[in-house]
Amino acid sequence: MRQIEQRFSSMVEAVRDYAIIFLEPDGRIATWNKGAERIKGYRAEEIVGRHFSIFYTPSDIATGKPDKELRIAASAGRFEDEDWRVRKDGSRFWANVVVTALRDGSGNINGFVKITRDLTARKEAEDQIRRYAEDLKRSNQELEHFAYVASHDLQEPLRTVSSFSQLLASRYAGKLDKDADEFIDFVVDGAKRMQTLINDLLAFSRIGTRGNPFAPVACEDIVNAARANLDVAIEESRASITHDSLPSVVGDRTQLTQLFQNLFGNAIKFRRDEEPPRVHVSAGLDAGVWHFSVRDNGIGIAPQYFDRIFIIFQRLHGREEYPGTGIGLALCKKIVERHGGRMWVNSESGRGSTFHFTIPDERRHYDELSQAH
Ligand code: ADP
Repeated sequence: MRQIEQRFSSMVEAVRDYAIIFLEPDGRIATWNKGAERIKGYRAEEIVGRHFSIFYTPSDIATGKPDKELRIAASAGRFEDEDWRVRKDGSRFWANVVVTALRDGSGNINGFVKITRDLTARKEAEDQIRRYAEDLKRSNQELEHFAYVASHDLQEPLRTVSSFSQLLASRYAGKLDKDADEFIDFVVDGAKRMQTLINDLLAFSRIGTRGNPFAPVACEDIVNAARANLDVAIEESRASITHDSLPSVVGDRTQLTQLFQNLFGNAIKFRRDEEPPRVHVSAGLDAGVWHFSVRDNGIGIAPQYFDRIFIIFQRLHGREEYPGTGIGLALCKKIVERHGGRMWVNSESGRGSTFHFTIPDERRHYDELSQAH
C-alpha cells in the first residue's frame, strides 16, 4: 500500500502540464508538483504552508472567492472554474481550475486536491479570433453601408443622364446623322444597364441590414410563390418545377422567396436547347440543419467556377448569350448566410446543376432569433 502511495505521489510530482496540489481543509498548501512550479513560478519550499488565495487576483480575494470555492467543493464534492489567476511575478494567466474535496473514512473533509491548467495560449487565440471576427463584421457592415450610400446617391445623377438621353433619342432621332443616332442609342443603353446594376447593388446591400424580422415560413408556400412570380417564363420555356414535401423554417419570407425565385429563374435561363427545363426541390434534416437542394437539367457548370459564380457581378457568359448582371447567386448566398446557413453547387458540365443550401432548424428558438435580427 505504502509503495503504491509512493509511486502515486512521485507520479503527481513529475506531472508538468498540470499544477496538482493538495490543500489542507483550511486552504493552506500541503504539496506542490513540477507543473505547479512551472505554471505559478514558486518552488515548493517557498509555497508549502501558504494559503492558496495567493494565486488569486486582489479583486477575487476582496470578494472572498478562494474560500467560496472551497465551500462549494466541500458541499458539492467538486468545483470548476475558468478565470484569471496570478503567478509569483505578478503576471496573470488564464486558468482552468478543478477543486475536489477529499474525505476520510468517516466522511469528514480532510483536504482538497486542486488541479490547474494554464490555458492562456488558448484564451489568447480565442480572443484573437473573436477580435478578427468582430473586425470582419465591422468592415463588412461598413462596406455594406458604403455600397448602400453609393448606389443610392448614384441613382439621382444617373436618372438625369438616362432621362435626358432618352429625350435626345426621341426628339433628334433621324434629325442628326446615322452616327449620332447610334451614339445616342449607346448612351441610352449604357444608362439603362447602369441603372440595373445599381438597383442590384442596392438590393444586395439591403439583405443584411434591411431585412424583415424572422418568422416561421412554410417552404412549400414560398416555392409556390416563387413559381407564380415566374409563370410567364415557365410557360414560355415549358418548364416543370416540382418538389418533395418541404419543411417550415424560421426566416424572412420575402428573402427566401427571392432565393428560390433566383434559383428557378437561373434553371430556366441556363437550360439546354434539347429539352424543357425540369427543376426539382428536395429537403432533408441532418443534425439539426435543413439541407435543401434545387436540381436542374440545364447546361451545367464546370467545377473551376463553383466558387466564382457566387461572387457579385461574376458571370460565365456574355450578355448577348444570356442576359443578367451576375448578382442573383451572390444575393442567394447572402440570404442563406443571413439565415445562418451555407450555400454551394455541384454540377457536371452539360448534365445539369444542383444548388445546395442549409438553414438551421430554429423553430424552437425563433423568438430569440427574431429579436436578434
Ligand atoms: P446571372 O444569372 O445574372 O448571370 P447569377 O449570379 O445568377 O447571375 O449567376 C452567375 C453565373 O452562374 C451565371 O452567369 C451562369 O454562368 C452560372 N449559373 C447560375 N445558375 C446556373 C444554372 N442553373 N445552370 C448553369 N449555370 C448557372
